[in-house]
Amino acid sequence: MAAPPRVAVIGSGPAGLYAAEALVKQTDGNVRVDVFDRLPTPYGLVRYGVAPDHKSIKSIARYLQRVLENPAVRFFGCVELGRDLTRADLLGCYDAVLYSTGAMVDRRLGVPGEDLPGSVAATDFVNWYCGHPDAADHVFDLTAEEVAVIGVGNVAVDVVRILAKSADELRETDVPEHVLDALAAGRVRRIHMIGRRGPAQAKFTTKELRELGELPGVGVHVRPEDMDLDPASAGLAESDRQVRGNVKVLNGWTTEPDATLPRRIDVRFWRAPAEILGTGRVEGLRLERTTLDESGRVRGTGEHETLPVGLVLRSVGYQSVALDGVPFDDRASVVPNAAGRILGPDGAPIPREYVAGWIKRGPTGVVGTNKSDAAETVRNLLEDFDPDGPRPGGTIEDLLESRGLRVVTYNDWLNLDAAEIELARSLSRGERVKLARWDAMRAACHPE
Ligand code: NAP
Repeated sequence: MAAPPRVAVIGSGPAGLYAAEALVKQTDGNVRVDVFDRLPTPYGLVRYGVAPDHKSIKSIARYLQRVLENPAVRFFGCVELGRDLTRADLLGCYDAVLYSTGAMVDRRLGVPGEDLPGSVAATDFVNWYCGHPDAADHVFDLTAEEVAVIGVGNVAVDVVRILAKSADELRETDVPEHVLDALAAGRVRRIHMIGRRGPAQAKFTTKELRELGELPGVGVHVRPEDMDLDPASAGLAESDRQVRGNVKVLNGWTTEPDATLPRRIDVRFWRAPAEILGTGRVEGLRLERTTLDESGRVRGTGEHETLPVGLVLRSVGYQSVALDGVPFDDRASVVPNAAGRILGPDGAPIPREYVAGWIKRGPTGVVGTNKSDAAETVRNLLEDFDPDGPRPGGTIEDLLESRGLRVVTYNDWLNLDAAEIELARSLSRGERVKLARWDAMRAACHPE
């Protein structure tokens, strides 16, 4: 009987682990799946993207853990494609390679002043408060009383909420100690969340938006004139459940909030960033009033205003990065594919290489969206697999040994997991406190 298919999955976020699960399910366990991650920790955006105070979404990690505990699945942490292994290495050891590396970098705004100190990508800020080791030493100046968050998607809402909460409210979450200290020392009082289009075009979901109005000590305001809907937007507010829900919540915030509340959120629409101002660091944000043309595109009106903010968080979407040797569509920032089969420059599928998740379809949808997305890719991968065809002869064990790499196994990760749970206990802080520095994480993985 032919040996079961051997598959490498690159990236252990939701897309990668749902793909591993689908591989096991669709073969009744007759498969060998090795999941690689450049970090010592699995779960990708569930660990480093989902906000620390969104505990029920975070609990998806417990579901994904069961995938890693399946005997057909192994975890290889601290192994980076491009640094430790090449695409050719993987193709020499596996029948198929499935890339699920997500969308790791921020999109650019393209306005003057974007690189001033104090103009920060939301991806960096999110990584920092989620305890990502690459962001552990970032310093965000939270001494400004007024802050702008550009973008009206769910990441912007997360960032606004974390800034609007007191450090005490985050004590029970897993944010690293140094993050809690920095937030406690912060002086942010007013947060402007800026949409370049109208309320009907905002990307956030109603449940997430509503949470802003439920924060203790925080007043939320929307200018009534920003809620004037053009006929097309008014139509959307009737026909689209999410738009209807958003507009209803926003309309509830059009009266001035109690001025004695310690913090305030201003949700602004019809304002596009024109320039981030300052000499040496951010001192203001210049906005241009906008309108929509007949085709629904944003147009500047030439009317400007300046907000006196000391920090600008740019939350305008994530972007995937190209993987060495793997085709990439620079304009769409995805790997060109047909239902997960990677397409070469001639438009034909490249044998044995697949994608799932954000690098396949772009940075959209909720965590669960990746389940059906990954299952689709896996169906095609297994359909293409020929057990009697030529099979690669290399083994990953030999390869890793020849490179002298110290891999983090699933059991090593469990050591780190236990260390974080123990840290929370010792600090009397919730279920877990994240270790965020590479050296501390490595030491916890390999206690000697
Ligand atoms: P997103 O939903 O695509 O929102 C990006 C926002 O940035 C939009 O408001 C967009 O406005 C704006 N934007 C883009 N370019 C801009 C520019 N040049 N100037 C001003 N504004 C600009 O992206 P995201 O918030 O990063 O979220 C990514 C995905 O993760 C989404 O699917 C989201 O729902 C999901 N997510 C979910 C949760 C949750 O369920 N709790 C939490 C976080 C993230 P336009 O529409 O005008 O382009």
